[in-house]
Amino acid sequence: MTSSETYLRHAKTVVVKIGSALLVQDNGQVRQDGLAGFAADLAMLRAMGCRCVVVSSGAIALGRHHLNRPKARMKLEEKQAAAAIGQVQLASEWTAALKAEGLKAAQILLSPEDTETRRRHLNARATLNTLLDHDIIPVVNENDTVATMEIRYGDNDRLAARVAQMISADALMLLSDIDGLYTADPHHDESASHIPEVTAIDEAIKAMAGPAHEDYASGGMITKIEAARIATHAGCHMAICDGRILRPIKAVMEGQRATWFIANENPPQARKIWIAGGLQPQGKIHLDHGAVKALRQGKSLLAAGITHVDGQFERGDLIAVCGPKDQNIGRGLSNYSSGDIAKIAGCNSAAIPDILGFRGRDEVIHADDLVIETSAEDKK
Ligand code: GLU
Repeated sequence: MTSSETYLRHAKTVVVKIGSALLVQDNGQVRQDGLAGFAADLAMLRAMGCRCVVVSSGAIALGRHHLNRPKARMKLEEKQAAAAIGQVQLASEWTAALKAEGLKAAQILLSPEDTETRRRHLNARATLNTLLDHDIIPVVNENDTVATMEIRYGDNDRLAARVAQMISADALMLLSDIDGLYTADPHHDESASHIPEVTAIDEAIKAMAGPAHEDYASGGMITKIEAARIATHAGCHMAICDGRILRPIKAVMEGQRATWFIANENPPQARKIWIAGGLQPQGKIHLDHGAVKALRQGKSLLAAGITHVDGQFERGDLIAVCGPKDQNIGRGLSNYSSGDIAKIAGCNSAAIPDILGFRGRDEVIHADDLVIETSAEDKK
């Protein structure tokens, strides 16, 4: 098995990022053969049992022709207008290409705060997971039409890494116009050699991505390294591979070269480290004996096991969890505010819509968002 094959065969969730140049020709037409190949690769990953998310650029490249701005530099509002035009087409092209493979598409447009603010992060993640649970392929792009310069990702490499982090993906594939990272810019330096694997993103690696030939830097090798830093810290392997060949992911699995950045930790662990470390809990919930037992068995926390709540917090905040004798059990991210928990404590999840007037999540804290302390008994 090639190492790429190993990473992908072990992946439960894969994010595939596809750059504008791979999807849109200079004349503004969609590269239909390329798109059909990406859709076939996604179908292959689905058949292997991977959940797939696409991060697709191309809205501006498609839309600019309708503003008669095929090459000229555009002002921000023109780019945003181009994105507004192009995104509709991009979504319909993806819908058609995935349909030809028997797959369904859904569109998600994200802004930085959707991945970086905890509350919105939880919402975006729940939507993505719901789509994946229903076997639908989310096609993600930046919400370019309303973003201002200051609040943009500006590049889909980092957006894709944030998406990978958000859904605890195991692999992120950046399909690019180059087959990976080189020791120097291969367009200018004949002695530049390809790096198949990076285990630590240090200064030497960053220097290799340095200011370079326009093509080499387009989309930016630097932003790809930054994406690799985000992804690998979140426990996700990341590959830079050549998306210009037909069926690029299949090719990589069969041995076509790429650069793999190796994850620091496995995803759930990395997420839990984030929950366990640093942040100060905003409040505390008290559980009955049965709930403590369930949590220690790896279950999610339901309202029924909560006896009362201390402090004031919002949905998405980190809270401490303790047992009937006030003993510390662990900490996690709450799906409800303290006010709402006070109302639903001790109740069956089915009663939540009647009590709160809206249908929230069944779990007050999902097992994925919960870190349990090792108990004294566990240590014995
Ligand atoms: N969101 C932009 C678009 O769809 C592309 C940004 C990028 O390629 O990094 O046109």
